[in-house]
Amino acid sequence: MKKGKKIYEGKAKIIYSTSDKNLVIQYFKDDATAFNNKKKTTIEGKGVLNNRISEHILSNLSQIGIKNHLVKRLNMREQVIKFVEIIPIEFIVRNVATGSLTKRLGIEDGTVLKEPLIEYCLKDDKLGDPLIAEEHIYAFEWANKKEIEKVKKMIFRINDFMIGMFRGIGIKLIDFKLEFGRLKINGKNEVILADEISPDTCRLWDSITDKKLDKDRFRKDLGDLIPAYTEVAKRLGILHEQSNVSAVNVTKLSSVKKKSK
Ligand code: 5GP
Repeated sequence: MKKGKKIYEGKAKIIYSTSDKNLVIQYFKDDATAFNNKKKTTIEGKGVLNNRISEHILSNLSQIGIKNHLVKRLNMREQVIKFVEIIPIEFIVRNVATGSLTKRLGIEDGTVLKEPLIEYCLKDDKLGDPLIAEEHIYAFEWANKKEIEKVKKMIFRINDFMIGMFRGIGIKLIDFKLEFGRLKINGKNEVILADEISPDTCRLWDSITDKKLDKDRFRKDLGDLIPAYTEVAKRLGILHEQSNVSAVNVTKLSSVKKKSK
């Protein structure tokens, strides 16, 4: 399978075509953005860690029957994924109130929700990914009822699985963002999990100290993002291959560079 042209570039990833029309390559960049692209930087090693963490979570989800786009990781920064038509909705799943929810509704930060809460945002950078109601999805035909019912079922299973997986390694899964896509199989559309699941797309707090181990370290200028993502990868037990050692070396390199500035 040959890597072809760039077909899409997002804030944190690039998609390349391949010689197989059903498969594309997803490349994880080191770019970090927040607040609708207003805050931007490059954090050496972030893409490598997200590639590994997302691969780990998506392959575990496959094993419990959650169909997703991951075919295989190719190298430190790339994965082969199934080509899907992305549903233009960001599905936000919340277990604990924080972030935009607390700002929008005045809920106290850290309030544990009785039930997981699903919010929908339109995936549109120009509009700043606005919050929408489920009715908007049907009114503007971004997805149909059958698709959303299926997505909701998958979301609750994904959330249950991920809460348990992270709890086992001393991390609280506060909230996260998911994306889904349509895969054409024998002329029929099937909705599968797509995009990535990583500390870029989840809020992960240490169970004992509440230390933030996610992209909020960048959003809130807390520093030490790479050590935090590395900590997540280590606790998940995925930092022992050669490529991971390189990820750690990248971390060391970038901290040396920072110190020498
Ligand atoms: P909030 O709405 O509180 O800013 O974010 C809720 C959760 O969804 C957080 O875990 C956050 O990381 C994730 N999230 C929401 N929108 C985006 C997005 O556009 N990009 C990324 N990487 N994560 C997002």
